[in-house]
Amino acid sequence: MNPAPQSKETIQQALQDSEVRYRRLFEAAQDGILILDAGTGQIIDANPFLLDMLGYSHAQLLGKKLWEIGFFRDRALAEAAFARLQKKGYVRYDNLPLEAKGGQRREVEFVSNLYKVDHQKVIQCNIRDITDRRRLEAKLQQAQKMEVVGQLAGGVAHDYNNILTSTLLQLSLLLEDPNLPDGAKRMLRQLESEAKRAASLTRQLLLFSRQHVIQLKPLDLNVVLANLVDMLRRLLSKDVRLEFQAGSNPLWIDADSNMIEQVVTNLCLNAQDAMAPKGGRLTIDAGLVELDAEAIRVNPEARPGLFVCLAVADTGCGMDTATLKHLFEPFFTTKEVGKGTGLGLSIVYGITNQHGGWVEVASQVGKGSTFRVYLPAVTKALLAKPEFPTLEIRRGKETILLVDDEKTLRDMIGLGLQLYGYRVIEAANGQEATQVWDQHAGEIDLLLTDMRMPGGMTGMELFERFKRTKATLKGIISSGYSEEIMKSQGLMDPGVIFLPKPYDVKVLAGTVRRCLDQAGLHRG
Ligand code: ADP
Ligand code: MG
Repeated sequence: MNPAPQSKETIQQALQDSEVRYRRLFEAAQDGILILDAGTGQIIDANPFLLDMLGYSHAQLLGKKLWEIGFFRDRALAEAAFARLQKKGYVRYDNLPLEAKGGQRREVEFVSNLYKVDHQKVIQCNIRDITDRRRLEAKLQQAQKMEVVGQLAGGVAHDYNNILTSTLLQLSLLLEDPNLPDGAKRMLRQLESEAKRAASLTRQLLLFSRQHVIQLKPLDLNVVLANLVDMLRRLLSKDVRLEFQAGSNPLWIDADSNMIEQVVTNLCLNAQDAMAPKGGRLTIDAGLVELDAEAIRVNPEARPGLFVCLAVADTGCGMDTATLKHLFEPFFTTKEVGKGTGLGLSIVYGITNQHGGWVEVASQVGKGSTFRVYLPAVTKALLAKPEFPTLEIRRGKETILLVDDEKTLRDMIGLGLQLYGYRVIEAANGQEATQVWDQHAGEIDLLLTDMRMPGGMTGMELFERFKRTKATLKGIISSGYSEEIMKSQGLMDPGVIFLPKPYDVKVLAGTVRRCLDQAGLHRG
């Protein structure tokens, strides 16, 4: 059945309604829309979103041609696009740089269509602002790259760490021998210092790859900075004016103070280099910031919440975009051979990450740079656990069950413990340890085990299992991976102490004594 013939008025009304509907879409669209006269290229209309995005008023755009207004910075491109549009009726750019009235650069997706309205040909351009999305993609890519590099560096460093642990242990054992001739002693000392240097390099790599063991404690960043600034003033050249004003409110963070000092020092040394040889102003600032969803929009590493922000700013040479892109990569340096290692900022990056934070950089060539380190704020000032007094390392007679799958390392640790008077029973893995436990549980006072073992059971699980049959058992769990340690720290039994690798015989003996003596010291 045909619809009833419509009157002229109803058709008129329908047209008007449709016009209103279209207008509403145009006004409310969350994309910029520009309407051009297809013949002349003049702007007929622009929606509020576009005006807002680019900072122009309606009057400033009306009647102008695309290439007459600033935001199409490339006039030739705009003219060519218009010519193509006229010919093909459709043009699309995935990534077109535009400039807003104030000079800010915007990246847009630009799609335009040719159509006919009331016998007049018009072009509708839809302009979508993708600046934020682009920035986010770039940052994400950067974060992924750092992750891969970090894994690589961490893997290598972890293996070296084990080798160095065994080397340092053997050296310290040899050096304990009172009958050692002087010449040999000197050489061994030299060897020991070289091995320690290697361990320090390994530690730097682990710092970057976030696998270094860190000891978090609640601390006030203002206090850390106040203490550090004096040292920095002495360290930095006198042409560098270091400005720091300690805030009156405490800035509580859960952090390893040595590492935070390392972060500040590295940033200050870079600032000094950037201002050499003339010198300049170096400002250290710290404060509490609250980040909302808006503030974190352009940085995938950022999270909403309360943060302590540490800013280190200089008036130095600044950085170009190429440098900004690679800055945190290990071994990236623009300094001459022998001057830069390219590890300074990698370490800053790794430490910050490991503290649950991130770094932001703002820099302008010739003007200077500002590095902002964000660290999660601790809202209630948690009371620090009381420290164990540093006792002179005492010997002991207790029995220790030692579990480690690396035989050389196990032998060395065993020797070291015996040197301090302990009785040692060894096992290579969880299964062997369990057999030993079944026979000797009564005699064993302490379990010293690697966290990671072949066979799937972790050192922690082994300890928990044994502890069920003997409540007085003490445990030391050793690992080169901070992550596992951090994870387990929450569930930590008060009888357990973690021992980060590498360590020497004194640290080992000290930790064993401390652990065995714990019962009398810990609260409750
Ligand atoms: P290094 O200082 O050994 O070169 P870093 O990792 O500390 O290694 O820094 C990497 C690079 O980042 C530097 O070589 C330099 O190009 C750039 N950079 C770091 N901090 C600044 C700064 N404050 N101003 C200008 N450039 C900097
Ligand atoms: Mg540096």
